[in-house]
Amino acid sequence: MPESFVITMDGPAASGKSSIARVLARRLGALYVNTGNMYRAVTLAALEAGLDPADKPALRAWLPSLPLRYPIHEGQVQVELGGRVLSSEELNSDAVNGAVSLVASEPAVREQLVTAQRGMTALGHLVMEGRDIGSVVFPQSPHKFYIDASAEVRAQRRRAQGQDDQVGRRDQLDSTRKTSPLVVPEGASVIDNNHLTLEQAVQAVAQLLRAQGLSVPEGDNP
Ligand code: C5P
Repeated sequence: MPESFVITMDGPAASGKSSIARVLARRLGALYVNTGNMYRAVTLAALEAGLDPADKPALRAWLPSLPLRYPIHEGQVQVELGGRVLSSEELNSDAVNGAVSLVASEPAVREQLVTAQRGMTALGHLVMEGRDIGSVVFPQSPHKFYIDASAEVRAQRRRAQGQDDQVGRRDQLDSTRKTSPLVVPEGASVIDNNHLTLEQAVQAVAQLLRAQGLSVPEGDNP
């Protein structure tokens, strides 16, 4: 089997990167990894354990006991906490939205999750999305993308999803933290996703991937 590839897709909250990454992964027969869900799972577990997300020493002491696993279901890496697969509703609750950036700013949390993310290359080809995938987790990947959209377009997207998610506040925290802040990774292609349909955005990424030597099949439906 040829060496597996990793396509990295970073960008601010609600830029549309999850939808693009999911469609691309399906067309390529690669695994889709949403690393935001991993940070959300740690946050949910911390809240359920009664921890204050701002109490970093308590968070660090508790972290090694965290029973996280990453089973694969229908081409997607899931997050399982103590034998329970976490649902999208649980991972995207208002409480988790409000605390996740704080938890993700703790270096010990990042270290644990980045190790798990790097280990996923053993599973096959990956399309992995997040904030630091092209800059920190797989900086050597030749297939790096940064999906961007304006604050207005992103806030509108979240509202349309029925979520009360202060994307501006999360972006501010994610971009200014000391460890692995959100940046455009060196060598990444930037996709302006303000006015593209999902199919147009997928095609824009697919075209660049083909120029990089990957074979991307046309899809019939997104
Ligand atoms: O992608 P999503 O918006 O679900 O990510 C939730 C939060 O997880 C982000 O706001 C960020 O604080 C954190 N995150 C991160 N690094 C990643 C992915 C997500 O810090 N690679």
